[in-house]
Amino acid sequence: MRNSYAALFVSFLLFLVWVGMEGSTAPQPSPPPKPRLKWYKGNTHTHTLNSDGDSTPDEVVRWYREHGYHFLVLTDHNFLTHVDGLNALHGADEKFLVIRGEEVSDQFGGKPLHINGLHLKRLVKPQGGSSVVETLQRNVDAIRKESGVPHINHPNFGWAITADELRQVRNNKLFEIYNGHPHVNNQGGGGVPGLEAVWDAILSSGKLLYGIAVDDAHVFKRPWDRGAARPGQGWVVVRAERLSPDALLDAMERGDFYASTGVELADYRADDKSITITIREVPSSKYRVRFIGRGGRILSEAVTNPAVYRITGEEGYVRAKILESNGSVAWTQPIMLGKAEAQEAR
Ligand SMILES: [Zn+2]
Ligand SMILES: [Zn+2]
Repeated sequence: MRNSYAALFVSFLLFLVWVGMEGSTAPQPSPPPKPRLKWYKGNTHTHTLNSDGDSTPDEVVRWYREHGYHFLVLTDHNFLTHVDGLNALHGADEKFLVIRGEEVSDQFGGKPLHINGLHLKRLVKPQGGSSVVETLQRNVDAIRKESGVPHINHPNFGWAITADELRQVRNNKLFEIYNGHPHVNNQGGGGVPGLEAVWDAILSSGKLLYGIAVDDAHVFKRPWDRGAARPGQGWVVVRAERLSPDALLDAMERGDFYASTGVELADYRADDKSITITIREVPSSKYRVRFIGRGGRILSEAVTNPAVYRITGEEGYVRAKILESNGSVAWTQPIMLGKAEAQEAR
């Protein structure tokens, strides 16, 4: 018996050798080349003369293209701007992309409820509803129905949306943790939490939401006016295969991007064991990287570059905030751990 096993084992070895020899002579099917991922900088919230902005779509697109961006979503209030002509003009070299979008601008009980629809097929009219949550949900659903990607805007504008309300909205993956408009109360106050605390409250409940930074730019003609909603305040940098609406928006809904008000990353890697962040430093600035977990707790703060965090599995989630010495910031997206991941709702 033992001998026959040995014989079987030897013939198996011979078979492996034969397969190996075959392999060395016969052409092997080459594995499909891995798509090369690139980083694309973009802004998903911008206004033009088609609602209450001060410049034409052409001028607005030109501003972003000339300032190092790769893509822009035009999102006028309840207006879907055509972008084919703009792309023919500004995207012919395939270095810049304009994506059509709309800021679906609804309200409930006098509270402004604004939801962006990115890459919509058709205009979405404000849907209304009998509560803040229902109004948000009906607009998110209407945006999805037109194949758009929703993001919920400036929750603290008009003190409209609480963390608990935001947490209840389904089929929405993105919300603004930073909006460059001067009257949107990003920082909170008077007992109302700021948007980062809102984010941590939602993540701590086990619901996964990704945080974006946007301009909400309206004013391009007064670049000196600090009280105006100017461009260049907040953006996302998305890791995607190519510069196309689907590739960019799929990556955003996977959380493969970071949000920024000025900090640039050279690389960002994360798996269930560790997170590594490499900053593209401005020589005169200094940086620290804060790793944050459940309840907004600071897990560690690193001053090395790259900054590495080793995940224990007990954090609930881990996200990173990179702080630059003059106040600019980048936020990476949360890695959900353990039970939290199972509860993730779409
Ligand atoms: Zn708005
Ligand atoms: Zn807006």
